[in-house]
Amino acid sequence: MNITKLNGVGAKRAHSLYNSGIYTVADLLNHFPRDYDDRSQIGKTVAELMPDAVNTLRGTIAADPESARIPRRGASALNLTKLLIKDYTGTLEIVWFNQPYLKKYFKRGNEYIFTGKVREIGGKLQMQSPEYEPCRDVELSHGRIVPIYTTPKQFSQKTFRALIHQALDAGTGYDAAFSEYVPTAIRDKYSLCSRKTAIQNIHFPESDTLFLAARRRLVFEELFFVQSALQQLKDAVTGQAGLNVGSHGIGLFISALPFSLTNAQIAVLADIRRDMISGKRMNRLVQGDVGSGKTVVAMAAAYLVMQAGYQAALMVPTEVLASQHYSQCKQFFEPLGFETVLLTGSLGAKERRESLAKIQNGFANMVIGTHALIQEKVEYAQLGLAITDEQHRFGVNQRLNLTEKAQIIPHTLVMTATPIPRTLGMILYGDLDISIINELPPGRQTIKTYSVGSKYQQRMHGFIRTEIEAGRQAYIICPAIEAREADENQENPDQLKNVLDYTAELSAALPGMKIAHLHGKMKSTQKQEIMDAFKAGDISVLVSTTVIEVGVHVANATLMIIENAERFGLSQLHQLRGRVGRGQHQSYCILITDTKAQETKSRMKAMCDTSDGFVLAELDLKIRGAGDFFGTRQHGLPTFSIANLYRDMDILKEVQQAILEVHEMQILEEERTIMKQRLSRVLNDTYGGVM
Ligand code: ADP
Ligand code: MG
Repeated sequence: MNITKLNGVGAKRAHSLYNSGIYTVADLLNHFPRDYDDRSQIGKTVAELMPDAVNTLRGTIAADPESARIPRRGASALNLTKLLIKDYTGTLEIVWFNQPYLKKYFKRGNEYIFTGKVREIGGKLQMQSPEYEPCRDVELSHGRIVPIYTTPKQFSQKTFRALIHQALDAGTGYDAAFSEYVPTAIRDKYSLCSRKTAIQNIHFPESDTLFLAARRRLVFEELFFVQSALQQLKDAVTGQAGLNVGSHGIGLFISALPFSLTNAQIAVLADIRRDMISGKRMNRLVQGDVGSGKTVVAMAAAYLVMQAGYQAALMVPTEVLASQHYSQCKQFFEPLGFETVLLTGSLGAKERRESLAKIQNGFANMVIGTHALIQEKVEYAQLGLAITDEQHRFGVNQRLNLTEKAQIIPHTLVMTATPIPRTLGMILYGDLDISIINELPPGRQTIKTYSVGSKYQQRMHGFIRTEIEAGRQAYIICPAIEAREADENQENPDQLKNVLDYTAELSAALPGMKIAHLHGKMKSTQKQEIMDAFKAGDISVLVSTTVIEVGVHVANATLMIIENAERFGLSQLHQLRGRVGRGQHQSYCILITDTKAQETKSRMKAMCDTSDGFVLAELDLKIRGAGDFFGTRQHGLPTFSIANLYRDMDILKEVQQAILEVHEMQILEEERTIMKQRLSRVLNDTYGGVM
C-alpha cells in the first residue's frame, strides 16, 4: 500500500518520505527506531511503589472509573471515586474523596502521571487523592519505552511516531511488512517471535520482554540474510574458473629483495600460488598486523600474473598510500621488465589519459590507484589479479566492482592490517578464504608506549626535541583540523586538539624546527609534497589528522604522539602506532588524554601493555561493547538497519549455525521460495547486484 494512503501524508511529506526510501506502508514499518526514550524515568512502575510515601507513577487507565456513595455515621455521606491503573508490572487502585466529577474526567485507555501517597490497605497498595496530569503522546506509547526515529524532513518525532502508529493501526496495507521471510523451522528452533509481533513491538514495545524478543527476531533476520548473501557470493566464486599461472615462480623477484621473507610471508605466498595454479579463481584475504610485510606479498602475487601475461591492479584507500606503493612497485618491477602506472583522482588530464591508454592497450602491467581504478572509464587489456589493500576501508561492493572490470574473472587478493575478531571477520569477509601473516620481520623493537595527561605538554616538547636532534622524525596526531570544526563536533571544544592551532603552537615552542601539517582537506598535490618531504627527511615533525593512519611507511620516524587519544578506538590507535617502529631505532608512542573515564583508562592501559593487534582487537570489542569498533570511519561493513555487530555477537553465532542447518531442514517449498527471494533482494541492495 502506497504511503500516501495514510492520513496526513500530502505531496510534500510523501516526497520527503520517498527521499528516505519509504514508499509503502511496509517500508515505513521497516524504518526502525534509532533509539528509545525510557519514560520510566518519569516515575515508578506499580511494582516499584513504596508504601507510606509519596510516589509518582505513570499508568494507563484499565477500567471505567467507578463512583460510590459511602454513608457515614454522624456525617454526610462520602463520595468515593475509584480508578484502576495498570502498567506492565501490575495494577493499582487509586481513590479520591468527594470529587465525583473525576468519574467523567478519566477515560479508560488514557495514560496519566499520578503523584500521591501510597498506603497499604488489606494487603493491597492504594494511592490516595493524587495529583494527576495527562501524558503527552498518550495514545502513542503503549508501554513506557517511546521510540525515537531518524525522521525524514517535514516530520517531527511526534508526527512521525503518529504516522507509524497509524500504519500499525490501519488494519490494511501493512501486511507486507508482517509477512515472514524466515522459515518456520528456523523460527521454532531459535525461538523467534513472529514478524508481526516483532514489528509492533520494535515500534511500540508493550513490555520490556516483548521489546527484547522483537529486537532479537529482527536482528536475527537481518544477520541471517546478510550472512547468507555472503555465503552465496562465496559459493558463486568458488569453482569459477580462473587464470592458471602455470610454472611461473617468484624466485627472481624474491632474490631481488633486500631481505629474506619471513616464514609467515612464505606460507601465505604458498597459499596464493596454490590458488593461482588450481585453475580456479582465487578469492583470498591476507590479514597481517601493521608492519608484517603485506605489500611485498601483494607484489609477489602481482609478479606471478604479470609473468603469465596478465595485468595486476592494486587499489588503496588514500592517494598518499597509492603513490607510496607506486614508487615501490616501479622501483622493483622496472628492472624486471614490467611497467607500473598510477591512476588516482588527482592526476592531471594528460597523465590520466596516458595511464588509461596504457591500461587499455596492455602496456601497463601493474596498475596502482585509488577508487579511480573502479570508475567507468577504466578498461583493462587483461586484468588477471585485483588486489585491495587496507580492505577495511572499502565496501564489499567496491572490492567486487574492481573484479568486474575484467573480461576474464581475475583472481582477488584482499589485504587488511586491522585484525578483526573472527566473528566480525565472517561478516566482513564471509566470502573469502583467509591467510594470516602472524609474524613480524625480524629485528623489530617493541614500541614503548606511554599514556599521559596534557599537563606533560612541556616535557613532550623536550622529548620531541631530543628525538629530532638525534636525527629522528615525529608524527603528532590531532583529531580535528581546525578550531571551528572542533566547536561543531565537540561539546567541550577546548579539549579537542586541532592540526592548525597545534602546528602554530608547536612552531612557536620549538623555533627553528621543521614542522609541517597534513590533513584531509588539503589538495592531493599539496599532501603529496608534504609526504615526500617528510619521507626525504626535510620535515621533522608532521602534525596530522588520521589521514596518515594506514600504510604509510617512513622508517626514520620514531615518535608518535596522539592527542585526545580517548577519541580513537584501540584498533585505530594500534594502526597509528604502527607508523613508527619501522626501522632499527627504538620508537615511542605517547597517548595523551585527560579523560578520566574508566573505559578510556582501560583502553590506554591495553595499548601500553600489548603490541599484538589481535589481542587489542578482541579487547576493543570487549571494552567498548556497544561502541563502534572501527571508530567513525568507513569500514566496509554492510549498513545494518538494526543489527549491531558488537552487541549482537551471540545472535550472529546462532545465525551462522542456522545457515549451516537450513539446507537440511524440513522447510515448505513455499517458504524456501520466499526465503530465496528475500536473499536476492538483500544481495542486490547490499552488494549492488553483483551476482
Ligand atoms: P604492512 O603489512 O603494514 O603493509 P609493509 O608491507 O608496509 O607492512 O612492510 C613494512 C616494512 O617492512 C617495509 O619497509 C618492508 O619493506 C619491510 N619488510 C617486509 N617484509 C620484510 C621481511 N621479511 N624482512 C624485513 N623487512 C621486511
Ligand atoms: Mg600496508
